[in-house]
This record gives sequence, structure tokens and C-alpha cells, in this order.
Amino acid sequence: MIDEKTLAELKQALETEKEKLEKELSSFADKDEDDEYTARYVDYGDSEEDNAEEYRQHEVNLSLSKRLESSLVDTKEALAKINAGTYGVCEVCNTSINPERLKAYPAARTCIDCSN
Ligand SMILES: [Zn+2]
Repeated sequence: MIDEKTLAELKQALETEKEKLEKELSSFADKDEDDEYTARYVDYGDSEEDNAEEYRQHEVNLSLSKRLESSLVDTKEALAKINAGTYGVCEVCNTSINPERLKAYPAARTCIDCSN
């Protein structure tokens, strides 16, 4: 089980992480009404080279925004679980997740065994 003090620390870490992710995402992506982020199209210029670079950068931003968004979803989920009192339980096998694992990765959804 996770003690109160550790839980408070993990909650703080998750809130910091959530803010960081939201800030990072909003720097190059727009959020729609479903809370989903889409990378903004970059504009370097009108030459063929610029357009090719814009396209390349947009692909990079799209995959980055997907990665950040999935971290954000996990982070929000973990915060919701803390509020619901169900935090720290593996989503697959329902056993308690090792607190050391949670300290290393507070948004973990599964125990170490199930993550492999
Ligand atoms: Zn498990």
C-alpha cells in the first residue's frame, strides 16, 4: 500500500507533469473541444524547399503530439484515480503496484509484471 505522504508526493508530481505536458502541447498544437490536440501546420515560406520542410516538420510534430498526448491522458487518469481512491492498482491483474515503480513513473497503469 502507498502511505499518505508518498501519495501526496506522487499527486504533486503528476500535477506538475500535467502542467508541463499541457504547456508543451499548446506550444505547437491546438486543442479541440474533445480535449484532443492536433499539431498546427508550420509556415516557413512558399518555396518548394520551405514546403518540403514544413511537411517534414509537421510529421515530426504530429508524432510528438501523439506521444505527449498519450502521456497526458495517463497522467490525468492517474490523478482521477487518486481522487477516486483507486490509485496504485494494476489495471490488468488488480494487485497493488510497487510504490518504487510509482515513484519512478507516477502515471503507471500496470504493475511491472504486466507491463512486459
Ligand atoms: Zn499487474
